[in-house]
Amino acid sequence: SAEEQLEYVKSHISTYPDFPKKGIIFRDIFGALTDGKACRYLRDLLVQHIRSQHPDVELIVGLDSRGFLLNLLLATELGIGCAPIRKKGKLAGELVGVEYKLEYGSDIFEMQRSAIKPGQKVIIVDDLLATGGSLAAATQLVRKLGGVILESVVVIELQELQGRQKLDCNVHSLIQY
Ligand code: AMP
Repeated sequence: SAEEQLEYVKSHISTYPDFPKKGIIFRDIFGALTDGKACRYLRDLLVQHIRSQHPDVELIVGLDSRGFLLNLLLATELGIGCAPIRKKGKLAGELVGVEYKLEYGSDIFEMQRSAIKPGQKVIIVDDLLATGGSLAAATQLVRKLGGVILESVVVIELQELQGRQKLDCNVHSLIQY
């Protein structure tokens, strides 16, 4: 059943206290991806959600860099395309960017302008929602390119950080801490 699959995936997520620095509890999806069954279950749970809730999705957009793991996987299963959001300086061609704040300073996310056709229905994917800063910037960028966001989908949501409240789009998470 879906609940058993979810429990199986959850039991394979590794937890590392004080990484990458003191006070952060790092939730590591790679712990799940080294297990074949957990990989398949993770894929099936995400695909099942999207098929049932957003059958009209036209493009999956994945965030640098663990979002890329889900990007092509979901797109090929759904029979649609995918596109990356990358940190500044990695993509070629005509680009559109948004600046977003980090704990110290700021960074820039970029997409290729040709990646989204205006009006195209998009789902954004990433491994984890923490403060919501990354997904908020991603949302802004997709809209700048004319994309219509159906939902943002993450494997893990850290609920106490209330990142969801920073986002003006639907959010779906598989696992909550
Ligand atoms: P945020 O912008 O604060 O929502 O952070 C989300 C991004 O940072 C995601 O791409 C995650 O991969 C990474 N991240 C933030 N906090 C954690 C955490 N506790 N464990 C694992 N990854 C994290």
